[in-house]
Amino acid sequence: MNSKNRQFNLSRRNSLKFVAGAIGTGILAARAGADLAAPEPVIAQNDMTPDAALQKLMDGNKRFVDRKRQNPHQDFGRITEVAKSQKPFACILGCADSRFPSEFVFDQGFGDLFVCRVAGNVATPEEIGSLEFGTLVLGAKVLMVVGHERCGAVTATIKGEQVPGQIGSLIDAIKPAVESSKNQPGDSLENAVKANVILQAKRLKESPVISKLIEEKKLKVVGGYYDLDTGTVTMVSVP
Ligand SMILES: [Zn+2]
Repeated sequence: MNSKNRQFNLSRRNSLKFVAGAIGTGILAARAGADLAAPEPVIAQNDMTPDAALQKLMDGNKRFVDRKRQNPHQDFGRITEVAKSQKPFACILGCADSRFPSEFVFDQGFGDLFVCRVAGNVATPEEIGSLEFGTLVLGAKVLMVVGHERCGAVTATIKGEQVPGQIGSLIDAIKPAVESSKNQPGDSLENAVKANVILQAKRLKESPVISKLIEEKKLKVVGGYYDLDTGTVTMVSVP
């Protein structure tokens, strides 16, 4: 066993210990909160299937769109419950755009989502590493790459103008999606945003860590498109 693997096994063991601790704490919390009409479940995502995790995300978005948000897991009991360990059921790679706050859009709370937000939702090495951690170590069962309507980063890439500072690094990461969607019929920006979701999901799937989890049926990588006007997330088919 090389030192890297050993390190991983140790951290894995530690994280399992944390999980066991969290479940114990959760049971106590549930007992203490027995007077609540509908006590929230303890951290129980460990045995969730990828399909169930995806359904949970989409159900949350439906509540958001229907203006029936439950704002789950946002009380102080939940904050203390997850203070020592986390077991998010989903990972999100979304745009940094101020109009896409993941927990609101999917009607979730503390400890539910492991979120990476970066302009243009690009899968750079730092994002890939973070999402490998969120899925392999923390056990999230679904990873959704979410692009959105009128994305500024994709718009800038289409325009192809000179940009200052490090903004060009984002544009370089998005450019192949703009190229591949160029001749599609319909709205060129929407097409490019969706092509970018597919491109970034593909980059994530090239991670040996992520592809192994998919192979073992422990993870699903999916794409989404967020409509700024309605709040709806629709699925973007990711090959
Ligand atoms: Zn954006």
